[in-house]
Amino acid sequence: MRILLVEDDTLVADGLKQGLERGGYTVDRVDSAEAADEALKYDAFDAAIVDLGLPGEDGIQFIGRMRKRGEPLPILILTARDTLDACVSGLDAGADDYLAKPFRLPEVLARLRVMIRRSHSRTASRLTAGPLILELGSRSAVLAGTPLELPGREWAILEALVMASPNVVNKDKLVQSLGGWQADLTPNAIEVYVSRLRQKLATAGLTIRTVRGIGYRLDEPERTV
Ligand code: CA
Repeated sequence: MRILLVEDDTLVADGLKQGLERGGYTVDRVDSAEAADEALKYDAFDAAIVDLGLPGEDGIQFIGRMRKRGEPLPILILTARDTLDACVSGLDAGADDYLAKPFRLPEVLARLRVMIRRSHSRTASRLTAGPLILELGSRSAVLAGTPLELPGREWAILEALVMASPNVVNKDKLVQSLGGWQADLTPNAIEVYVSRLRQKLATAGLTIRTVRGIGYRLDEPERTV
């Protein structure tokens, strides 16, 4: 999952970026609404974290504009504790949730999980696909009753597939979601991760189908009646 972090305070931004990356997210940071606009024009994200006090256009105006043009990206706003009125304005402008500074990282991670789940019309923190169970909170997977070892990127791809199922996950979006601006992730690398996942899932009858020219779809085993 890829997060766009819009925060002008370098210290806060660096700490948050590190924490989110440890939590398994890909994070790209910009320091103004203008830069965020550029990023959104060219790249796909799964959620945005927006500081309200930004140089130039402030966070509330920025969010208002995003929503006006129909941008559905889940947005978490950050603000100083003594400006709770600003949080209300931010929510009214179209943000999904807010956190007051200083915040604790586990809370940021939990709120992100909820927002991203909701944006995929999922309400539970446990995702299932046939014999596969993904616990989003602990980032652990169980396949047919046995814990499944999944390195970070395999987990991220499988999470995206299960989250989207029965829909197709776009391959370009997957590359962006996993790589961000700094990583040199290629479509070929995605294919390698997908083929490893296929091997791990095959025993339980789960298939990752290639949808030519678009991406991948997770197919559950046929149910026998
Ligand atoms: Ca700020």
